[in-house]
Amino acid sequence: MNVERLNERVSAARREALARGDTFYPGPSRVHLAAFPPKERWDDWVELDSRSWPERRERRFMLVPTTCFNCESACGLLAYVDRETLQVRKLEGNPEHPGSRGRNCAKGPATLNQITDPDRILYPLRRAGARGEGRWERVSWDEALDDIAGRIRRALDEGRPNEIMYHVGRPGEDGYTERVLAAWGVDGHNSHTNICSSGGRAGYAFWMGLDRPSPDHANADVILLISAHLESGHYFNPHAQRVIEAKQRGAKLIVLDTRLSNTATHADHWLSPIPGSEPAILLAIADELIRRGAYDRDFVRHWWNWQEYLACEHPEGPQTFEEFERLLRELYSAYTFEFAERESGISAEVLREVVELVASAGSRLSTHTWRSAAAGNLGGWQVSRALFLLNALLGAVAVEGGVYPNAWNKFVPRPLYVPPHPQAWNELTWPTEYPLAMNEMSFLLPHFLKEGRGRLEVYFTRVYNPVWTNPDGFSWIEALTDEDLVGLHVALTPTWSETAFFADYVLPMGHGSERHDLHSYEQYDGQWIAFRQPVLRTARSRLGETLGDTRDANPGEVWEENELWIELSWRIDPDGSLGIRRYFESAEHPGEKLTVDEYYGHIFSHSVPGLPTAAAAEGLTPLEYMRRYGAFEVARGVGPVHAQPVPADELVDAHVDELGRVYTRAEKPASANVVPLPTPDPDEEGRRLVGVAVDDDVIRGFPTPSGRLEFYSRTLAAWGWPEHAVPGYIRSHVHPATTGEDQMILISTFRLPVQIHTRSANAKWLDEIAHTNPLWLHPRDAERLGVRTGELVRVETEIGHFVVKAWVTEGIRPGVVACSHHMGRWKTGETGQRQSMATVDLDRSPERWSLRRRTDVRPFDSADPDTRRIWWTDVGVHQNLTFPVHPDPVSGMHCWHQAVRVTAAQPGDAYGDISVDTERAHEIYRRWLELARPAEQHAPDGTRRPYWLLRPLKPSRDAYRLPGVPGGVEGEG
Ligand code: SF4
Repeated sequence: MNVERLNERVSAARREALARGDTFYPGPSRVHLAAFPPKERWDDWVELDSRSWPERRERRFMLVPTTCFNCESACGLLAYVDRETLQVRKLEGNPEHPGSRGRNCAKGPATLNQITDPDRILYPLRRAGARGEGRWERVSWDEALDDIAGRIRRALDEGRPNEIMYHVGRPGEDGYTERVLAAWGVDGHNSHTNICSSGGRAGYAFWMGLDRPSPDHANADVILLISAHLESGHYFNPHAQRVIEAKQRGAKLIVLDTRLSNTATHADHWLSPIPGSEPAILLAIADELIRRGAYDRDFVRHWWNWQEYLACEHPEGPQTFEEFERLLRELYSAYTFEFAERESGISAEVLREVVELVASAGSRLSTHTWRSAAAGNLGGWQVSRALFLLNALLGAVAVEGGVYPNAWNKFVPRPLYVPPHPQAWNELTWPTEYPLAMNEMSFLLPHFLKEGRGRLEVYFTRVYNPVWTNPDGFSWIEALTDEDLVGLHVALTPTWSETAFFADYVLPMGHGSERHDLHSYEQYDGQWIAFRQPVLRTARSRLGETLGDTRDANPGEVWEENELWIELSWRIDPDGSLGIRRYFESAEHPGEKLTVDEYYGHIFSHSVPGLPTAAAAEGLTPLEYMRRYGAFEVARGVGPVHAQPVPADELVDAHVDELGRVYTRAEKPASANVVPLPTPDPDEEGRRLVGVAVDDDVIRGFPTPSGRLEFYSRTLAAWGWPEHAVPGYIRSHVHPATTGEDQMILISTFRLPVQIHTRSANAKWLDEIAHTNPLWLHPRDAERLGVRTGELVRVETEIGHFVVKAWVTEGIRPGVVACSHHMGRWKTGETGQRQSMATVDLDRSPERWSLRRRTDVRPFDSADPDTRRIWWTDVGVHQNLTFPVHPDPVSGMHCWHQAVRVTAAQPGDAYGDISVDTERAHEIYRRWLELARPAEQHAPDGTRRPYWLLRPLKPSRDAYRLPGVPGGVEGEG
């Protein structure tokens, strides 16, 4: 059935429901569906037991909200807790959650599989043999924590703070752990972001000072997506439902995706470009809008930093807007449709149709790119920069149907304690070669360790699996098995992973219904917070039980990080002499440990506008309210924050500079919302930037150094990249014009809609739906190679090869192959996830690593009878092992796409074979490192990084200074 017919039927059903007098759910979901139990009855909800059919047996449930932990969207879930057995029977959507509005993707309800998985880790484990040998012994939490805390304390006492590192995969929370690390005084935060979204972030950050867009899809007339947002994009379910709403209204959808993804199948225009050529297409559209004058002149004049561009790049010419417009026409005149056609393979004729659509949107153009092209290509950060150029031209910024800066649609409350910025700078994560990197250079860590740039005393991996997820996994294994490089590896994980196999401690963490976290994400023009909670703990407390910590209610000895960090911090600093313990003490009962109830109770009572009133109206405390409903909408219709006037009391001794920036001596007002906004430099007299002068008003502007949208990035120009200071096009490292004639482009970045990196390995429903990752191959290429669907092919990268099955499909461009990165899980012995991990032999000869499949997945006995019903054997191929690192010299993003040679399998090749040369991998790392422009040579002010750029954990300003480099004066940046 096509989308239009489906939409008609849905609308008709709604009309009928209304005619019958049915009502819409009154909560934030604002959608019709009697399927949501009314919240007044959540304490005692009755359903018929489906398994007892045809007998009508009633089951009584307490519905307890939490949020999904299976991707970054944090959709609301309702756990159905059986009042008789006190077990979670199912998880469905929470209609009180303003972002997800009662809906989930398949991965939300599959949380049930994760918590009941027979292979899950239930107790703390310590390795019993050599690291990676696979032998484990159970250990008490006390033993594990004392050991870990002792080592951390020793490192701190001995002045080795940079040997403590916390490396996070899925954060799923807003800042709790960063504050833990700040309290310890370490610059020890490491993230996965540079293998995920740094490319996308950089393009946005250089434009608007904030590194994410918040597209208002629901109100757009034209939606332009670069990637597969409808099935697996960023904030997938909340965005997807709003895209579909817009389509129901008649909005048009343009999708740039080299694969015919499920998203592309919903598009009015599907463009399948040569990977990496997306900016060429976007700039050709921009050129046409500029040439025709079909852009919002007022918006550009008011909000772009065109004066700064003229002052820096054309100081001799007239400093007028008309002159800027003339130069703008010149700047993009080379990006013709014909040029874009040559670069992208998309015909000029199609591009002309697309530009008409974009031009027709006016300010109702919502656009989004995240991983995808921005994550695949050298210079991928120019994809988001070129995409946002279209919004900035049409004035489709912070208006209905346009794109908002993320921080305006996000609410992060002020917590009980805010420890100071650490006095340290960790060059293992923020090396000086990459001063503009959006996030930690995490994927280079094994190479940095091998080069002797440092060592780690205590290394936490937390819901992170770099051996499997990152490129160059064998280099990770080499680093993790070297105890001189990594003294103690602690894996905090709910699920077995290829990385946990190389840990010293494996500590069991909770899934989405077993832990506390707080979050808020930009999903529409509003602000909400949502509360993840251990649902059985809440249910049992509501029934009058007194419980200790979260372990009391979780299976086995599964814990959560919030309480773990409090406990560990007390053990690091038992007498408070290090100044750490005070950030983990109760404010209500000095000298006692902080509890999660006090921590969140304080936030909800003091830092969330409107929540105390809403709670009081129901006779609840704010904490009780959040435990009962799980989410709260702080604001709706936030609108254009940049256009808000700056209040007079903030304009103390205000000074307006030649670019219209307004500086003040007034203190920054204390705000409940602590979204980490960039901090532009003060003026020469120490005043802080407070806004911009537009006509006769002083208004907020954007959190950039200029206070305006930075079409021209003085930061890029000053820090060594003047040629990329305006939105442009950098030809990808895999563009056919630069690779060998016998090479193809491998797209390795796409997600499967029902899989979640590491954690879905224990979700049986998801594994049954999707468990393999064949290589997409166009029929023309298949014919050339003499390969048919299901036959084996060998894919050769720069450092090795993998052997995979072919899937011949017209859904991919000729010359390009694609393989999802979500599959290919493995274990070397019995320990691991048996329903999704093949058992392999891992070998290392002097020259090469190899991995060969010993046994496939097969049925097994367990407490869950479904494990005997496993019918699949194939779990895909771990292609990421064969990729060398490709750090983008500007954004720091790993450029995932590979130039590969694809051939029919060779004699002796077996499905799933991997072969890799890690010496060669190190050489390629060195080659890409040479592209970097280090701060020592290029920083204009003797610092390691522009202070205004975001960092998840920001050190003190002093720590920014480069040692031994003259300068150190805070300048432009
Ligand atoms: S989109 Fe799916 S996986 Fe992500 S939070 Fe929502 S329900 Fe969970």
